[in-house]
Amino acid sequence: MKKGTKLYSIFRNRCPVCHEGRPFKHGVYSPGFAKMEETCECCGHKYEIENGFFYGAMYVSYALTVAIMVSMIVATYVLVPNPSAGAYIAAVVIGVIVMIPITFRGSRLIWMNFFSKYKGKESLEA
Ligand SMILES: [Zn+2]
Repeated sequence: MKKGTKLYSIFRNRCPVCHEGRPFKHGVYSPGFAKMEETCECCGHKYEIENGFFYGAMYVSYALTVAIMVSMIVATYVLVPNPSAGAYIAAVVIGVIVMIPITFRGSRLIWMNFFSKYKGKESLEA
């Protein structure tokens, strides 16, 4: 993935402004997966631009969760012969729970990238 694109920042867990600092310090499936830095260690960008900024990430999280649910329903339909209603429910619940750290972090990274632009090297010199 090319540096400078929003997808780079989202998939590589990088600051949306300089693409160097890591907003989330710990690994995706570690106990501290939700812990965020306040500012970027490289360019000083404040991740939570204003109070309650990350409430908006819930809309992104909702969309991601619906996408996971639909994926799990389709996967169950394709992979399980004659699936029962319980099989669909189990697949959706397990899929959503397993993906919680990814949807949480992904939604915040996507939300930050809506409002911040990549500034490249000039952000690091300031
Ligand atoms: Zn930065």
